[in-house]
Amino acid sequence: MKTIGILGGMSAASTQTYYRELCDLARARLGGLHSPELLIRSLDFARIEVLQAQGDWDAAGAILNREARALERGGAELLILATNTMHKLAGPMMAGVGIPLLHIADATAQAITAAGLKRPGLMATAFTMEQSFYTDRLAAAGLAPLVPAAADRAETHRIIYEELCRDVTTPESEATYRGIAGRLAEAGADCLILGCTEVGMLLNQDNVPVPVFDTTLIHCAAALDAALA
Ligand code: GLU
Repeated sequence: MKTIGILGGMSAASTQTYYRELCDLARARLGGLHSPELLIRSLDFARIEVLQAQGDWDAAGAILNREARALERGGAELLILATNTMHKLAGPMMAGVGIPLLHIADATAQAITAAGLKRPGLMATAFTMEQSFYTDRLAAAGLAPLVPAAADRAETHRIIYEELCRDVTTPESEATYRGIAGRLAEAGADCLILGCTEVGMLLNQDNVPVPVFDTTLIHCAAALDAALA
């Protein structure tokens, strides 16, 4: 089994889900006392969020690059970046790194394509929904992503940063997210990407009317597949 390097802490709430999910998947796949070989680097998200808000992507990219190199030096044989948003910086992060990055949008696009679906609604941070780095990647994989209307995008983003990344979930925000997911389905989405690694704290297949693709869970399954290949 290869050692998976997880660059996380963005936020810590979802990195905990990565750890739990990878452990559950490894036990289900391998049985007995098996657990995944992992290196987890969990950053202080307050520092990263300031750089995001300032648009200082160069500084953020330099941090990710330094940490990816450290994970490689520490023995990681493949990398996952445990946030959709920071995949904006996948290129700078991987500069000079010799081990592969398993891209979260590629793993998600593959899962959607394998299910025969094409027009995913996307609920994510404003960065992920409004800049092109993520939707272009989905389009290159043959998908036609649909993002919420402006007010719904703002509310999706606000709840991620003010609540989910602080490990807070409320019935009100779950209702808000269900409404946004429903409007995406009405607008023609044939499935829904939980395109932020915390959105699964509120939405899942039980409260969304179309097939749900949770990027956190898909990313974990793809990483374990790669580690066991
Ligand atoms: N975890 C989130 C994501 O998947 C948002 C936090 C961040 O900006 O990294 O995009």
